[in-house]
Amino acid sequence: MELTTSTLEVFNPATGAKIAEVPITPPAAVGPAVARARHAFSTWRELSFAHRARYLYAARDWIVDHQDEIIETICSETGKPRTEALIAEVFYCCDLLSYYAKNSERYLKDEVRSPHLLKNKRVFVVYKPLGVVGVISPWNYPFTLAMGDVVPALMAGNTVILKPSEYTPLTGLLVERLFREVGLPPNVLQTLCGYGDTGAALVDHCDGIAFTGSVATGKKVAERAAQRLIPVLLELGGKDPMIVLRDADLERAANACVWGALSNAGQICMSVERVYVEAPIYDEFVRRVVEKVKSLRQGTEKQFGEIDIGPLTMPKQLETVERHLRDAVEKGAQILVGGKRKEGLFFEPTVLVNVDHSMQIMREETFGPVIPIMKVNSAEEALMLANDSRYGLSASVFTRNKELGAQLARQLETGNVCVNDCIANFAVLEAPYGGVKESGLGRRHGEWGLRQFTSPQTVVVDRFGLKREPFWYPYNERVAHWISRALRWLYRRGWRRRD
Ligand code: NAD
Repeated sequence: MELTTSTLEVFNPATGAKIAEVPITPPAAVGPAVARARHAFSTWRELSFAHRARYLYAARDWIVDHQDEIIETICSETGKPRTEALIAEVFYCCDLLSYYAKNSERYLKDEVRSPHLLKNKRVFVVYKPLGVVGVISPWNYPFTLAMGDVVPALMAGNTVILKPSEYTPLTGLLVERLFREVGLPPNVLQTLCGYGDTGAALVDHCDGIAFTGSVATGKKVAERAAQRLIPVLLELGGKDPMIVLRDADLERAANACVWGALSNAGQICMSVERVYVEAPIYDEFVRRVVEKVKSLRQGTEKQFGEIDIGPLTMPKQLETVERHLRDAVEKGAQILVGGKRKEGLFFEPTVLVNVDHSMQIMREETFGPVIPIMKVNSAEEALMLANDSRYGLSASVFTRNKELGAQLARQLETGNVCVNDCIANFAVLEAPYGGVKESGLGRRHGEWGLRQFTSPQTVVVDRFGLKREPFWYPYNERVAHWISRALRWLYRRGWRRRD
């Protein structure tokens, strides 16, 4: 039966050329795809961790062998520099596959718990897979953010349906192909291409959803998932602050600022989106940042290392960047470098000052190659402004006083913080990654990234086989009296302190 009704056109944002047409899976075809995945689940869930890990190692080897093709595909539909595809997508995914192949059993094997109260029971926790997990991914890191949830969901024993962004379906299809070529059984991983309605249909049919994308769509996904009470992981947008204190290593801070704000043309959820610099070093910091931004090379490339910044990936991003800059300039901001659209989807890397929190550029996710820098009088003021946001994904603090840096980190209302670094959290696979406030719910990576694709089941086994427990029927006064005495003995402060 032919289930596709039309196609997605895929464009290269760097050249504007149409590079492919991909069949769309309409919402009506999602239910049957989930049914196929559910059928495959019954055998996939029974495999040992070691067996599943073999597919992951094979997938890793496939990626190493096909890295040029993968980079070519990613760059053709995002326009990003090849070096960024190599590091942040290919390298990350190889590490992710190794990590979960190696550690999943340790994180998900049955756990024996020693009961605090019921000493006459044996207790263990079983991490059962959810069933069919829908992974809905964005376009900015199409390989990393698809694999980032596909891999742990598979390792936890689920079958998976990936719905890549409508802007980057070729990378989504590559994920399906790579697992097919390493022999993953049919329907354990399927990629369905389409628009938001295909993603929404996944929420209607799957047993769990991992969503990465904008706050607005994330809220829609959460609302829809609430109708079925299925678990959702939400990895949403950010407005990440960088704080530069007066004692910072200025050269490192300026380099981090430029790279953290402009890599992937600023289209990173953890991009440095606003910078707060203490007054004594403000002028010198701005001077260095402007100088470095002026030296960046923007364009298209055929070989590694020819450019530093590519285009924006779609017209919508260009419009957002221009809207935020217009608003900022109208309210008094000054552009020191950049500020203009170039040909196609290219936008000049931009630094602006005289910014404040009345401006969209300091409050809304810009997701573009823009660095707004604000002067502050103290670390406290920087902290207050950094926390004055509806987002809470990531942040960075630059200071030579690492103790102070760690102290500020604790006070930042974000899921991730770097001291004297930026964006690095995402590469730390053993620690939780995710957002607070409107930046999301749930955590990727480590055991958190696996367990969210499971439903923990607690099994309590009676050890002694009495005919009845003392507190079962029939109730009587003697037992109540005995329980009351036990209560005093166990918990009354001052008489017997157990804790
Ligand atoms: P988006 O919300 O527009 O789309 C994300 C995905 O959701 C796409 O696959 C889209 O087709 C699908 N979708 C759209 N409407 C849907 C609906 N109603 N139901 C289900 N699915 C639907 O986001 P985007 O523009 O692709 O991605 C950029 C955003 O993603 C930015 O805000 C960025 O900060 C965020 N992001 C977050 C992280 C993170 O880890 N926190 C990582 C990368 C990107």
